[in-house]
Order: sequence, then structure tokens, then C-alpha cells
Amino acid sequence: EPSCVVIGASHAGVNFAFALRREGWNGSICLIDADSVLPYHRPPLSKAYLTSDEGIEKNLLKSKESYIKDRIELKLGVWVEAIDRESKTIILADGTTMAYDKLVLATGARPIMPPIPGLDTAKNLFPLRSAADVANIKKTVAENESLQVVVIGGGYIGLETAASLKKLGASVTVLERESRILARVTAPEMSAFFQKLHHDNHVSVLTEKNVTSIEPASTGNTVVCSDGSSYPADMVIVGVGIHVNKELAEKAGLTIENGIRVNEMAQTSDASIYAIGDCTFHYNPHYDRYIRLESVQNAVDQAKIAAAAIAGKKCSYDSLPWFWSDQYDVKLQMVGLSDGYDEVVVREEADRPNCFSVWYFQGDTLLSVDAVNNAKAYVYGTKFIKGGEKIDKSKLGDPRAEFKPANL
Ligand code: FAD
Repeated sequence: EPSCVVIGASHAGVNFAFALRREGWNGSICLIDADSVLPYHRPPLSKAYLTSDEGIEKNLLKSKESYIKDRIELKLGVWVEAIDRESKTIILADGTTMAYDKLVLATGARPIMPPIPGLDTAKNLFPLRSAADVANIKKTVAENESLQVVVIGGGYIGLETAASLKKLGASVTVLERESRILARVTAPEMSAFFQKLHHDNHVSVLTEKNVTSIEPASTGNTVVCSDGSSYPADMVIVGVGIHVNKELAEKAGLTIENGIRVNEMAQTSDASIYAIGDCTFHYNPHYDRYIRLESVQNAVDQAKIAAAAIAGKKCSYDSLPWFWSDQYDVKLQMVGLSDGYDEVVVREEADRPNCFSVWYFQGDTLLSVDAVNNAKAYVYGTKFIKGGEKIDKSKLGDPRAEFKPANL
């Protein structure tokens, strides 16, 4: 029987395996991951899961029984060392080989550990990508009363982690190198909103703080910045971005750009090998360019495309990117990509505090929407971006104008 081997059993790999079975694939499906626990949801790791007492088993992508039922073999705690495209085999860390007819790379990404002196030897320093990272963080929280935490990096993961640790009673300082938080992904209006939100919740978010060293201190660490300021930390969380796990593909000679390059069917430069999820550099027809995304949406959508393609169906990836973030009681939903915007319209909703949206335009084209506690703006934003509707910007900013194309 034909065999399909999937390297990486997270959002992309797991969704792919089940989708392939649903597409009618009769051969074997084997999911391999270096992580040794059953595959789990990553977004809650910095959100609800971090503040809950639940074990990871409450947070699984699929139950153990589902894999058995769909005849999906799981090889957990297994690292894949190399791909031999000529013999169509993969080589595991222990030297054994496995043959494939179709190979799917769902290798995702790993946290960047910046080359800051003292980072390697710092006490209670953790990234946040895996269940094991959260277990370490929770253990440190449980063992220390009045814990002082420094979070390096004011992106979504850093800010969500800060909010969660605050909820757990820690005192938290976020150090961001840029002049505003979320600078890479949102407009200044949105950065200012989150800056204030953290301030109001007594989390100190400091910008233009370039961490230059981490030094040992009697209780833990001292985090030192280039401006001479320093911050005591019993625990340090590193959230400064990710490296794509592209080395396997690279060594195998596949085409790599800002990720593993795939076509509209999630196929790499080798027709027997597909790549899906965070590790891919793929074409997005809405924005007419190649992009790399770090989102559940992209992992799931590419998984479905790859499954359909392997099943011989005609298909083409054309998803509109979306993403969310939860901090305190604020739900942020984002749709589209704002890169290249030249104007934003901020829309406040009448009589609803902390309910607003930021609309990003390039000329008259709506590129993306960030909606704060505002599902309606998110839904209409999605619709307007997909439909390419022309929107009257002055009306859009008026809370009395309802979300209807005729009104806007
Ligand atoms: P990954 O989840 O990175 O999984 C890749 C897997 O491959 C890993 O398990 C790894 O162990 C395995 N692997 C890699 N190389 C090998 C090898 N050689 N051998 C064996 N195994 C290997 N996205 C959202 O859309 N919304 C959110 O709110 C959100 N919040 C997040 C919060 C946190 C804390 C984190 C960490 C991520 C968050 N994300 C969020 C991003 C989202 O989790 C990722 O986009 C998603 O996990 C990507 O899935 P993936 O399967 O492509 O890759």
C-alpha cells in the first residue's frame, strides 16, 4: 500500500493526516514528531492554558482514539534527521529509515534565542512554544511567591504571556526593543491601545529597551539594557520571534526562500514532497505575493489543500489570512495583511467602550482590519476585503453608519 509520511505533528501535520484520510487515501499515514506528548493546541499555551490548572490532555488537537480510528500512526519523541529524495526515504535520529511515496513537511518553527550574553546560563529562562515550556513556567510560578518576571519582546506571545502571568499574581515587566509594541504587525493606534491596556492592568511595558546582557543575581537574574537600565527577574520569558524549521528541506536540496517554497497546491520543488504551515513560503492570490504566515488558519488551510492535492483533486490555496489574540478581557481579531498600507481609519462603536476597529487601506483598497472586542467589524471586514467593495472612508469612521456597503 502507498505510504504517506508527515514530519511534524502539530496544527498543520495533524489536520493534514485527518484530511487525507477523509479524502479517501487508503495507504498508510505516519505522523512523526520530536515532541513526546500527544499533539496539542498551541494558541492557548500563552492564554487560557497558562492560567488554568489543567494538564495538556485537556488541550489536545485530537483524542488518542481518533488516531486509531483513522489508522494514523503516531511516532512521538522521534527526531527526523534527513531526507533522501533519491531513495524516497527519511532517516530518523537512531539511524533507522522509513520509505515514503508522499512526504509532507509540517516542521513549523522554533523560538529564536537571541545571542545575548548570559542568556544560556540565566536562571528560569524559557521561550514559549511547547507544552514543556509551559510546564517549566508553571512550575516556576508555583515555586515562587511574588515572582518577578521580565518578558523580552512585546509581540503577541510576549504580551499574552505577560497578561497571563499577571493574572497568576506575578509582577511583570515587558522589554520591547522598538519604539512601540506590536510595531511589525499593527498601526500605532493599536500599539497605543495595548500599551494602555497593560498599563491599566499594572504590567509595565517599556519600549526602546534593547537587552544587552543577563547577569546572575542572588535571587535570580538581572536583565541589563543598552541604555544602562536593569531589571531584576526571577524568571525571564523570551518572545522575540521564530526561526523556520527549514534545515531538513534545505539539506535535501528543496527550494527555500523565506521558508520552504511551495506552489498553490502546497507542493515543494520535489513533486513527491509537500510542505504546510508555519514552515512554508507560499503565494497568496489576494495580495499577489509570496508570504510566510505564523497562524493556525494557514496551517489548517494548507493542510486541507495538500490532502486534496495528494488525493488527486484540483485545488488551489486562496485563503485570506486571519489571526487572533487574547489579553486580559480583550479579544483582538485580525483579518488580511496590512503591509503596504498608506492610511488607516479608526472606527469607535457608539456607547461601547473598548470596542473599536482599525481599517488599513492602500489607496481605496481595503487591505486588512484589526477588530478589538468587535466581532461585527471582523466579519464585515472579511466580507469587504474578499468582495473588494469600495468603501467611503469618512462614513466608515462614523459610528452612526451601520456596516452595510450601501452605507459606507
Ligand atoms: P508547529 O506548531 O511549529 O509544529 C511543528 C512541529 O514539527 C513541532 O511539533 C516540532 O516538534 C516538529 N518538528 C520539526 N522538525 C522536526 C524534525 N526534524 N523531526 C521531528 N519533528 C520535527 N496562531 C494563531 O492563529 N492564533 C493565536 O492566537 C496563536 N497564538 C499562539 C500562541 C503561542 C504561545 C504560540 C507558540 C503560537 C501561537 N500561534 C497562534 C501560532 C500557531 O500556534 C502556529 O502558527 C501553528 O502552531 C503552526 O503549526 P505548524 O504545524 O505549522 O507548526
